[in-house]
Amino acid sequence: MNTIRIAIDGPSGAGKSTLARSAAGKLGYLYVDTGAIYRTVGYYAHTHRIDPKDEAAVTACLPEVTVELAYGRDGLQCMLLNGEDVTAAIRLPEISLCASAVSAHPGVRGFLLEMQRKLAREHSVIMDGRDIGTEVLPDAEVKIFLTASPEARARRRCLELEQRGMPQPYEKVLQEIEERDWNDIHRPIAPLRQAEDAVLLDTTDLDFQESEAALLSIIRERSGGA
Ligand code: C5P
Repeated sequence: MNTIRIAIDGPSGAGKSTLARSAAGKLGYLYVDTGAIYRTVGYYAHTHRIDPKDEAAVTACLPEVTVELAYGRDGLQCMLLNGEDVTAAIRLPEISLCASAVSAHPGVRGFLLEMQRKLAREHSVIMDGRDIGTEVLPDAEVKIFLTASPEARARRRCLELEQRGMPQPYEKVLQEIEERDWNDIHRPIAPLRQAEDAVLLDTTDLDFQESEAALLSIIRERSGGA
C-alpha cells in the first residue's frame, strides 16, 4: 500500500496539533502527535524523580519504559506508559519542560524514532513535531513548517489552559514558550528548524478556519490533490 506522509514541524503553541488533527480527520489520515510521545517519557522521569536534564539517568531508565500509542473510539490519540493511560497527565504544564529536557538526549530520540517511522509505513499520516521533516520522515511527500509569533502562541496557550480549567498568567506562559523555543532550536541533536523543502505557514494573523484552509491547500497542492 502506498502511504502519504505529511510532516508538520514548528515551535510550541503554533497550533500544530489542533490543525493537524482536524486536517487528518478531513483527509482520512492517521494523526500522530509526536510531542505526546516525548511528553510520556518526560512524565516517567518526573514521576520517578529523575532529573530530566540528567542524560545518563534518563537514558538508564529507558529499558523500564514502554511507550505505546493507541486510538480511542473517538479517533483521538491516547498515550500508554507501561500499559497505563497517561493521556491527560502528560498535558500538565510542569510536564512540558520535562518533555523538552528529555527530548534533547540522543538516547531518548533514538529510542522513539522507529515507533514513529513504523506508524508512517503502515498508515497515511499527518505527523507533527519538531524534526519530522528533517529527521523522522525526510522523504515525506509534504512538509510544512507551521509557526506564529511567540506572543500569538502565548495568547492561544493561555486561552487553551483557561478552557481546561488551568489558567496561567500570560507572562509566565510567554516565558515558558520562549524557553522551550530556545531549548528546541539550540539542542545539538534534531534541533527545530525548517526543512529546506518545507512550505512555511505563519498563522500569526490567521484564525483557525483561515489556518486550516491554508494548510489543506498546501497539502492538496503538494500531494497532487490527494
Ligand atoms: O509538541 P509538544 O509541545 O507537546 O512537545 C513537547 C516537547 O517535546 C517539545 O518542547 C519538544 O522539546 C519535544 N519534541 C521533540 N520532537 C518532536 C516532538 C516534540 O523534541 N518531534
